[in-house]
Amino acid sequence: VRRIEEVEALSAEPDDRAPSTGAGRGAPAADVAPNAVVNGYPGGGPAAEVAVAFRAVRFRYAPDGPDVLSGVDFDVPVGGMTALVGPSGAGKSTVFALLERFYEADSGVVEFAGRDVRDLSIPQLRADLGYVEQDAPVLSGTLRENLLFAAPDASAAQLAEAMEQTRLNDLVSRLPDGLDTPVGHRGMNLSGGERQRIAIARALLRRPRVLLLDEATSALDGLNELSLRDAIAEVARVSTVLIIAHRLSTVTMARQILLLDGGRIRARGTHAELIDSDDLYRTLAMTQLLDAESGSVRRTATAS
Ligand code: ATP
Repeated sequence: VRRIEEVEALSAEPDDRAPSTGAGRGAPAADVAPNAVVNGYPGGGPAAEVAVAFRAVRFRYAPDGPDVLSGVDFDVPVGGMTALVGPSGAGKSTVFALLERFYEADSGVVEFAGRDVRDLSIPQLRADLGYVEQDAPVLSGTLRENLLFAAPDASAAQLAEAMEQTRLNDLVSRLPDGLDTPVGHRGMNLSGGERQRIAIARALLRRPRVLLLDEATSALDGLNELSLRDAIAEVARVSTVLIIAHRLSTVTMARQILLLDGGRIRARGTHAELIDSDDLYRTLAMTQLLDAESGSVRRTATAS
């Protein structure tokens, strides 16, 4: 088990590191980073393949504005869940925006599967990154149309698999016409958690290589909370998830947590490691993350 301090010390880079040098456009990921170090997490194992990497990324929205990311370095290993946490305004959504190429880094390199994202086609990149937003919209039409909207050629087996992973079968069994029940205009009274599970299933059907999730913050009742948690855990078990996490139960499942603060990676590690080593993380865990969590615990207790 590697200590947080060791990982931080080893991954510290001067902010003005020349962009694109070591990161090597198109070079295999194994050549560009000491993965075994950056990915240090309990359980060890072989150096993981890297799904996403930020190398000394510096970014500001306006030329005369402040740096929003200042020298951000991290790796997201293939497989399992990496959670981004941090105070409001820390830069979490900006990390997603740079990865999807809504903006480009002012310096440093953003890599997807070992390649500089500037060398990738934007449609392919965005197809490879299944993005699920916080308040995922449910479209008018049936549940089936909602799921197959972006993947009309998905097979029945793929649909069944995505529904199984996102725990949608229970919901379907309660609907009068199953998958063919219209769900639009919020007419079916779907909860925020159900809408997000539908959005996750919809994203999975496009077979992304990495699922980018902005975890729902909406208040969920106990069962919906548990189903969403189960769905996220299952998806992280079978694929790679990078999640902006808002709940304690989510971060405790992560193989790696990246704590962003003021546009920098302040610390990285597992929940247990960060609780031990980082004051800001402890405060966040006991306030923001626990608030979302204890709300659901209270609701679960009331429901049962
Ligand atoms: P939250 O948890 O509140 O969503 P966050 O950690 O995701 O916050 P970002 O949304 O990435 O933070 O914002 C980081 C900083 O960049 C903030 O100071 C924010 O005001 C600023 N910012 C975000 N989007 C833009 C934009 N389009 N133009 C200018 N500034 C922006």
